[in-house]
Amino acid sequence: MAEQSKIEWTDHTFNPWEGCQKVAIECDHCYAESRDQRFTGGIHWGPKAPRRRTSTQNWNKPRRWNAQAVAFHAAHGRRQRVFCASLADVFDNAVDTSWREDLWALIRECDQLDWLLLTKRPQNIAKMLPPDWGAGWPQVWLGTSAGTQKTADQNIPHLLNVPASVRFVSAEPMLGNMDLARIPKKKLGKHITIAQNALTGIDGLGEIGPKIDWVICGGESGTNARPMHPDWARDLREQCRSAGTSFFFKQWGNWSAEIDRDRDDPDWRADYSKASREGWTILYAEGGTGFHGDRVHLMKRAAKEATGRTLDGQQWNEVPRGPMEGDAPCPP
Ligand code: SF4
Repeated sequence: MAEQSKIEWTDHTFNPWEGCQKVAIECDHCYAESRDQRFTGGIHWGPKAPRRRTSTQNWNKPRRWNAQAVAFHAAHGRRQRVFCASLADVFDNAVDTSWREDLWALIRECDQLDWLLLTKRPQNIAKMLPPDWGAGWPQVWLGTSAGTQKTADQNIPHLLNVPASVRFVSAEPMLGNMDLARIPKKKLGKHITIAQNALTGIDGLGEIGPKIDWVICGGESGTNARPMHPDWARDLREQCRSAGTSFFFKQWGNWSAEIDRDRDDPDWRADYSKASREGWTILYAEGGTGFHGDRVHLMKRAAKEATGRTLDGQQWNEVPRGPMEGDAPCPP
């Protein structure tokens, strides 16, 4: 619940409640669960665990940020972004319905903020939206997480099927290669599935539908972090560039791509033996951790601050312009 968030793509983080349940492999090393275990023994995690509503004082923070909207815009040339929620899931069905109604009321009231609602339960969005949602409130950006192709195929269609002013995908932690140009859309008969390009909205029949406006990409951090192959991030970036979709590279996390076997080092066998001694890992593009696959990289565990957030020598900080902004380009 930072006043100024440390998360690179937002200005503030607001948690209306805390507690959740793991629902996907992207949740395996959930920071929020570890935090809950540290402070409460983990009593807010799991299907039957009570969620904890945060204090009135905390709920007043967005009101304060909202009141500062003009000054913020004058200083930064854009609206403030609020990530809601980092320690829970807005569309968690274990949450008291009245809490979510209160949250919608707060979002309605604080309409000078751009609210970024990121969920791992996009299948619940449609049934949990407020009755006056219409084509999507202009101050709300809806997002879903997808760190693998399987999760992307499951989650993104739900996001595309709800009205929204801005839609985004968070590929963090990125755990495998992803092709967002072949997301399943509908079945034609038993064996034929029509796919869609989620970044352009165009499906296999040439019909144009809703699309993803923003992709965030990042590696995992934390004690048990899993490494991200650089080709996965590069490929996702190139998909975004060819579709004209904003791309934000958030972080490498706790692994750096130290040696590209094909490019850097003909004597990779020697490096392999060195890496084994020093606790590095070997990752190839298909996601395996051996050295017989393609595009083998030696990945080194390192502090998040050391691995940084540049990809191919530069930062990628693109953010789309929401409907509440003017025509001027939107600074990151
Ligand atoms: S949905 Fe988010 S908060 Fe909930 S367990 Fe998964 S990663 Fe943690």
